[in-house]
Amino acid sequence: MAVQIDANICTACGDCEPVCPTDSIVPHKGLYTVKTDTCTECDGDADMPQCIDVCMEDDCIVFLD
Ligand code: SF4
Ligand code: SF4
Repeated sequence: MAVQIDANICTACGDCEPVCPTDSIVPHKGLYTVKTDTCTECDGDADMPQCIDVCMEDDCIVFLD
């Protein structure tokens, strides 16, 4: 259970990093990436993935499965 960031769409704005309840979004090669081993899809913390909610770019963050 995790989401991933499309490196071709991400603008590296950084808006998603502070809203993640599990600190699973980290800088990576000038952009941001999701640590799939700790991402919970915000289960138990919010009704929807908070990173998807805050990201301004359509389809930038998507479910892995
Ligand atoms: S909010 Fe979206 S565009 Fe901004 S850094 Fe996160 S994934 Fe990239
Ligand atoms: S879905 Fe939730 S837990 Fe996973 S990276 Fe996004 S904000 Fe963090």
